[in-house]
Amino acid sequence: MNNDFQRYMDKELNQLEEEGLYNKIRTLEGPQGAWVKIDGKDVLNFSSNNYLGLANHPETVKAAKQALKNYGIGPGAVRTIAGTMELHNELEKKLAEFKRVEAALTFQSGYNTNLAVIPSIVGKGDVIYSDELNHASIIDACRLTAAKVKVYKHGDMNSLEDILQEKREGKTLIVTDGVFSMDGDLAKLPEIVELAEDYNAITLVDDAHGEGVLGSHGRGIVDHFNLHNQVDIEVGTFSKAIGTVGGCAAGSKKLVKYLKQKARPFLFSSAVTPPDVAATLKSIEILSQDDSLVQKLWDNGDYFKTNMKEIGFDVGNSQTPITPVMLGKAKLASQFSAELFKEDIFAQSIGFPTVPKGKARIRVMISAVHSKEDIDYALEKFTEVGKKLSIIN
Ligand SMILES: *Cc1c(COP(=O)(O)O)cnc(C)c1O
Repeated sequence: MNNDFQRYMDKELNQLEEEGLYNKIRTLEGPQGAWVKIDGKDVLNFSSNNYLGLANHPETVKAAKQALKNYGIGPGAVRTIAGTMELHNELEKKLAEFKRVEAALTFQSGYNTNLAVIPSIVGKGDVIYSDELNHASIIDACRLTAAKVKVYKHGDMNSLEDILQEKREGKTLIVTDGVFSMDGDLAKLPEIVELAEDYNAITLVDDAHGEGVLGSHGRGIVDHFNLHNQVDIEVGTFSKAIGTVGGCAAGSKKLVKYLKQKARPFLFSSAVTPPDVAATLKSIEILSQDDSLVQKLWDNGDYFKTNMKEIGFDVGNSQTPITPVMLGKAKLASQFSAELFKEDIFAQSIGFPTVPKGKARIRVMISAVHSKEDIDYALEKFTEVGKKLSIIN
């Protein structure tokens, strides 16, 4: 073993501990849900992106079991070599219908989808315009290209237009999160689409936190703003409201045809397993048929946010059920989270590099499966801990 390397890792890990940025990963002793079992006790779950409870829904679990019977567990190899299972094709057709686009292509995760799409469409001589709060998977995907990356101020359309005016050759891509996951605010998609028209740019919106949340039946941000066929590429993930795992890119038939030839995570990494695909299909079916889960999610989110504001917490500028409880220092945020855990509430603190330094917070993820009693219990405990740590009066 290389001793210098061991010492280097010790130093880095110690530094994270000192700054309150060391990630402590909790172990769940059962399925995802409104309550989860951790360290032998039931705790109210405010930390998952399982917005609609589909991660352990009887119908999605049943569909996964059936797929296991019909298709086995493994995909064999990448789709271009082993062939593609009809289940994957069926999901892609269903997704296109749900998103009201011509076609969709699935990947192993949302992260992989950005890594697949962005380097396939821009390269040397091209320019990417990226919101400063875009998700890490977008940042990493941009780094994988030889394109020039220009970052605009968060949600600031003047800042975007200023840099769009600079002279350039080659292709132009504007890329943004749909819902910003740590703050819960929305991209100004109508303005972005307009600017893209004015400056001949390609548009990509990563709708990870919009699917199952925004628009009719949770169709996402494009539906929310009624911008169908005006955004070139919608990137999505199944690991949030959809409750499973996987990612997708949606747009024109030509886009999907192109990505099947060019996207490296499609060409060099195998597809997700049949049970995942079947469960995802079921989630999309559930959403298409009935939007009561989406309605419940919004009702719960509004109830929690309104009350937290009244109690005196700073809950930022969220336009969605995501509720950041702003605390500032990472150490304070992790202390707050630890105090909540003592009271049987699992709400992780979030610090740098997931959010900017000095903007640490507890990010409360309300879901459709929380009851009013659950939320009232949380409001009571947030108040107690907030007073104890002198955050509210
Ligand atoms: C969560 C998230 C991803 C990653 O999705 P996975 O399917 O978990 O890889 C990508 N983009 C955004 C904006 C996200 O919020």
